[in-house]
Amino acid sequence: MIPVLIVLNAGSSSLKFQVFDLQDGEEPRLVWKGLYEGLGGSAHFLVKDTNSALLDEMTWGSGDRFGHEEALIHLVSWLSQFKDDRKPVAIGHRVVHGGEAFSSPVLVDEAIIKKLETLVPLAPLHQPHNLEPIRIVRRRLPGMPQVACFDTAFHQTQSDIASLFALPREMRESGVRRYGFHGLSYDYIASVLKDYDPRLKEGRVIVAHLGNGASLCAFKDGVSIATTMGFSALDGLPMGTRCGAIDAGVVFFMLREMKLSPEAAERMLYTKSGLLGVSGLSNDMRVLRTNAGTNADAKRAIDLFVYRITREIGSLVAALGGLDGLVFTAGIGENDVATRAEVIAGLAWAGLTLDAAANSAGGPRISTGSGPTAWVIPTNEELVIARQTRSVLGAAQARLAS
Ligand code: AMP
Repeated sequence: MIPVLIVLNAGSSSLKFQVFDLQDGEEPRLVWKGLYEGLGGSAHFLVKDTNSALLDEMTWGSGDRFGHEEALIHLVSWLSQFKDDRKPVAIGHRVVHGGEAFSSPVLVDEAIIKKLETLVPLAPLHQPHNLEPIRIVRRRLPGMPQVACFDTAFHQTQSDIASLFALPREMRESGVRRYGFHGLSYDYIASVLKDYDPRLKEGRVIVAHLGNGASLCAFKDGVSIATTMGFSALDGLPMGTRCGAIDAGVVFFMLREMKLSPEAAERMLYTKSGLLGVSGLSNDMRVLRTNAGTNADAKRAIDLFVYRITREIGSLVAALGGLDGLVFTAGIGENDVATRAEVIAGLAWAGLTLDAAANSAGGPRISTGSGPTAWVIPTNEELVIARQTRSVLGAAQARLAS
C-alpha cells in the first residue's frame, strides 16, 4: 500500500487538488492533479497525470446542486477507483490567513478551526472558502488528519518595523499590520534557490510572483524581510483584477462622494481593477500582449504593471541594502518573455543586464555580466503544502509513539 496525501486549494466556486505519493525519506511525488470548477452551478471535473494527459472528466448540470461537499465526496470515491494500492493518509489545505497565531503549518482540530474562523474578517473573500472543505472533511471523514498551510506564515520573519502601519497603537493591537501573502510560493522558491546558484541562498534576492495575483518578496539569507502585500491581498502591485496599492483616500471618495456601498467598493477594488480595469479588455496577460499593438488601453495596463513592478523592486533593493538576484515566477513571471525583458530594462541602474536569448528560451538564468543575476524559476505551492503536511503528520505520529 502506498500512502498518499491529498492537497486541496479551495476557492469560491472551485476546488483544485493534487495527489502525492509518500515514500519513506523521499520528496512527496505528484501522481495526479485536477480541479472542480463551476461549483454550485454547472460543475466540471477533470484530472490529469503528471504528463498532463487527461485521465477523466465529468460535467454536472446546474440542477445537480453540485457544490464543495459533493466535490469532496466525488474526489474520495474517484480516488478509490483509481488509487490502485494507494490510500489517502492526510489532507493538506491551503489557508490564506494564519494571522499572528500561526507561523507554521498546523494539524487541524476543533479548537484550531475556531481560531481560523476568527481570522475570516482579515481575509473575507478567501478564508471562508479555505475553511469550508476542512469542515466538510471533519464531518464526512472524521478520522482523516488535516493540516492547514498558510500563505502568511513565510513572512513571520519580518521585523516589527517592516510589518507596522503608521496608525494609532490600538490598531496594531487589533491585528492591523502588514502580513504578506503568496508565502507558499516563496517558501518553494527559497527551498530551490541553492539548486540554481548556491550564492543566492545567503544573498539578497527579490522574488517576483507575477500571476493573476502578484507580489514581490525580498529574501535575505533565504527568509522574508519585506513584501509588497500587506494587511490584505489587495496591496502592492496591480494584479489581474485587483488594484494593488492605492491611496486610502480613494476609498473614502468612493464611499462618500460616489455613494458606493462598502461591498460595491470592495468588489470594484478586488474584481474590476488591475489589468482588467485599466485595459477595459482582460485580466489575462496573453490577451493584453496580443492586443497591445492596436489597443492603447491594453498597452497602458501592461506599462503600468511593469512600471509598478520596477518601482517596487527599487524599494525592496533599498530594504535589502543591495541586490544579488531577481527571480521571476508564476503565470506571467514564468511565461511572459516581454514582461521580464521590460522589468530588467528598467533595472539597469541596479546592474542587471538581460540575456535576451536565454530570456526567450525561458531561462533558467536570463542575465549576463557580473552584476546581480536574474532567473526564471517555476513555483510549486502544492509541493510545499505536501511537504508541510507530511512534516506535521510525522511530528504528530512521533508524539503519539513517544
Ligand atoms: P497564475 O495566476 O499564476 O496562474 O497566472 C495567470 C496569469 O499568467 C495570467 O495573466 C495569464 O495570462 C498569464 N500567463 C499564463 N501563460 C502565459 C503565457 N504563455 N504568456 C503570457 N502570460 C501568460
